[in-house]
Amino acid sequence: MTITEILNQPDHSRFSIELLPPLKGQHIDSIYRTMDALMPFNPAFVDVTYHREEYVYREVGPGLLQKRTVRKRPGTVGICAALMNRYEIETVPHIICGGFSVEETENALIDLDFVGVRNVLALRGDAIRSEGRFKADADGHTYAIDLVDQIVDLNKGVYLDPDLKNTTTTSFCIGVAGYPEKHFEAPNPDSDLRWLKQKVDHGAEYIITQMFFDNRRYFDFVDRCRDNGIDVPIIPGIKPLTTATQLSVLPQVFHVDLPDELVAAVEAAKTKDQVREAGISWCTRQAEELLDRGVPTLHFYTMGKANPTVEIARRVFGHVPA
Ligand code: FAD
Repeated sequence: MTITEILNQPDHSRFSIELLPPLKGQHIDSIYRTMDALMPFNPAFVDVTYHREEYVYREVGPGLLQKRTVRKRPGTVGICAALMNRYEIETVPHIICGGFSVEETENALIDLDFVGVRNVLALRGDAIRSEGRFKADADGHTYAIDLVDQIVDLNKGVYLDPDLKNTTTTSFCIGVAGYPEKHFEAPNPDSDLRWLKQKVDHGAEYIITQMFFDNRRYFDFVDRCRDNGIDVPIIPGIKPLTTATQLSVLPQVFHVDLPDELVAAVEAAKTKDQVREAGISWCTRQAEELLDRGVPTLHFYTMGKANPTVEIARRVFGHVPA
């Protein structure tokens, strides 16, 4: 089933999650443990992130460094297939432009189609950690919209090789990212919104937002989207703050503001448990208000930790959400 079909069901679950693949060398069991903890809340779907390559340097002799290219969290496609099989749940692999030629992207999409994945989130992807700015592969896409175009083409049976005849079509439902507080590279919010509208006009069927900690940012963003003719579902992404260091890390990594009231609550906390409670209470209130205002579904960024999300889901939904 596609995400839009799920969201169109009147009694669909108001709970969805994003998971990170485990670090290379770790077992998939950590993903299963997270899923086992969250399945009682009947998630509508599960997103699985994609992580591009990084450069690591290893000393191979005195003053001699060897540069290696590694993917620290491989396994996105395999995890999606495994979760669909084990939990009979719809999965949404993230597909990124960075590090892929268009040919490799096409082949990855064919793999996804063959394992029965019906949904993808099309993203540009982050820059390589040691590089300041995003650089596309020599034969890859520069913006998410180019990826959307390629997926839309494949849905029509248009492959890169024009000589292929009688090709099969895919039927991917495409989601894209949106930024209530603006993408950090966009010169201004209006410009960012124009590109978001382009992604939707080219075929994206829903938007998942970057995390935000002030619901007003989301509500304003939705209003601005609607005023500008973006009429697809806009799924709010939220994440509980759980440590005091996140007061500076989250703004730095995700380019989001933390409201004064939340900052004050965390600063007033005397123990780690109190900090965690302040973050979980805040996120619970965010979730309740968003649900009251009729959002398509909540989307929790679990960041590899199920417990805070389980705690919030318990407070918001009890054991079995509607
Ligand atoms: P784009 O839509 O391409 O936008 C990038 C920037 O360029 C924006 O400033 C936009 O305004 C501008 N722009 C867009 N199109 C054009 C154009 N045609 N011409 C000129 N300017 C343009 N990263 C990962 O690496 N892996 C993940 O799994 C992942 N998952 C994510 C999930 C969500 C829900 C979100 C919100 C983000 C995720 N990210 C992930 C991070 C994301 O890849 C980065 O934020 C990236 O910098 C931008 O991706 P995008 O798809 O929004 O890019």
